[in-house]
Amino acid sequence: MANPLRILIVEDSDDDLFLLLHELRKGGYEPEYAAVCTADAMRLALSERQWDVISSDYNMPGFSALAALKILQESGRDLPFIVVSGKIGEDQAVAAMKAGAHDYVMKQNLSRLTPAIEREIREADERRRRREAEVALNRQFAQFKTIFDSMSAVVYVADMNSYEILYMNPYAAMIFGDDWKERRCYHFFQDDQLGPCDFCTNQQLVSDGHPQAVVTSEHLNSRNGRWYQWTDRAIEWTDGRLVRLQIAIDITDIKEMERLKDEMISAVSHEMRTPLTAMLGFTEFLLENELDCEKTKEILQTIHKETERLNELIGNFLDMQRLRGQAGTGRYEMVEVEGLLRHGVQLFTINRGMHRVSVECPPDLPPVKGDSEKLHQVMINLLSNACKYSPPGSAVVVGASQVDDLVVITVADEGIGIPAEVREKVFERFFRVDNTDRRMVGGTGLGLALVKEIVEAHGGRIWVEPRAPKGSVFSFSLPVYS
Ligand code: ADP
Repeated sequence: MANPLRILIVEDSDDDLFLLLHELRKGGYEPEYAAVCTADAMRLALSERQWDVISSDYNMPGFSALAALKILQESGRDLPFIVVSGKIGEDQAVAAMKAGAHDYVMKQNLSRLTPAIEREIREADERRRRREAEVALNRQFAQFKTIFDSMSAVVYVADMNSYEILYMNPYAAMIFGDDWKERRCYHFFQDDQLGPCDFCTNQQLVSDGHPQAVVTSEHLNSRNGRWYQWTDRAIEWTDGRLVRLQIAIDITDIKEMERLKDEMISAVSHEMRTPLTAMLGFTEFLLENELDCEKTKEILQTIHKETERLNELIGNFLDMQRLRGQAGTGRYEMVEVEGLLRHGVQLFTINRGMHRVSVECPPDLPPVKGDSEKLHQVMINLLSNACKYSPPGSAVVVGASQVDDLVVITVADEGIGIPAEVREKVFERFFRVDNTDRRMVGGTGLGLALVKEIVEAHGGRIWVEPRAPKGSVFSFSLPVYS
């Protein structure tokens, strides 16, 4: 069965047209054709129908193969164009090929026409497929680019041989700078890195020219000192080569939280061991020995003290965890300062009564912005320390004053004071000043760390100064409510 062939024939001679059609039919084609010999007719034919191929005589009165080629090119179509001519010199043939013709066939040797058409149609098909694939790839790339451009992760693409950066998303440019074009990835993303990084995955990502499984890992970036978790994969670039795509997310905060958590867990377990060991040792001693009443009571008192310590430790620890969990979600309201101070002091005058606790607060103090429950917790901690670390009967004075748009609250005692060299350290978790006086007093070393977290979450600051002639003054600031 003959193959249909849509052929546009640029020819002015009926005889030559006849011969050409005859040749095509002989070659197994059933031509659906139009014959044109002017520019207008050719334009019309191109716009009216789809064609598989164009054949064109070289020279015609008022028209030519070169003019026909130009019209074809202007139409934007990629069709095989074959010059079929009686008398064409080598120079003219070269000129036609240079202008974009795909082949030329002599009219004296028309048997070449069918194979030439077959080949050129095949090649045009191939060109079309490639173009479509490229368009699809570009469209896909544009889609990915839109996604990557809006991601809060470092995304970049680098050539696997030259290491040249081919693409980088705006987020990465914001962090590492937008002068990445024509730079090598190792040089751009790392400090003082003169060759590929030790952890470069190029070798793992491709084997025998085929992409392999993704590679994921973490590393500390030497340019900005932050931790990144990255995923590398080989992808096909728009020009067909395999390139490395890296997506990296900043995990510095997560790492820091994990470190703090580990540190906290090991510190808490360590701190819990001390009272537990004492409780275990003394209960064993009680069980194994017959003791008189007084001795038994003495030991039970020690066990009770250690139990209290353990209880306080767990309480403080839980408060701290709760505070962390609520970070940034605190609901701040208007808090009256004098009320806050008197509420705290009340507990120490009613329940304990061993110290002379008083409040000195100017009447016109503005309210502060805060969480009254948490601020009460701060007052209780500071007052309890002031009483714990000063002799019975001594004075503890709570005061407040306005400094610009802050209110500074102070708790002053006449106690044992804090050595200058550890004044900053008392706010660290589990830190306890180590001297005999203090070891007598129970504690966990978590109270001030908790206080500091609360004050800082309120946008304030806490510090301690010595009080003359003896004792300490703890001060913390809070923003005025506006
Ligand atoms: P603790 O449970 O040990 O009291 P804190 O975190 O509240 O833990 O305090 C840390 C350390 O700071 C205490 O162990 C103590 O040595 C010191 N300290 C705190 N408040 C005072 C104070 N008012 N006077 C003297 N030393 C204090």
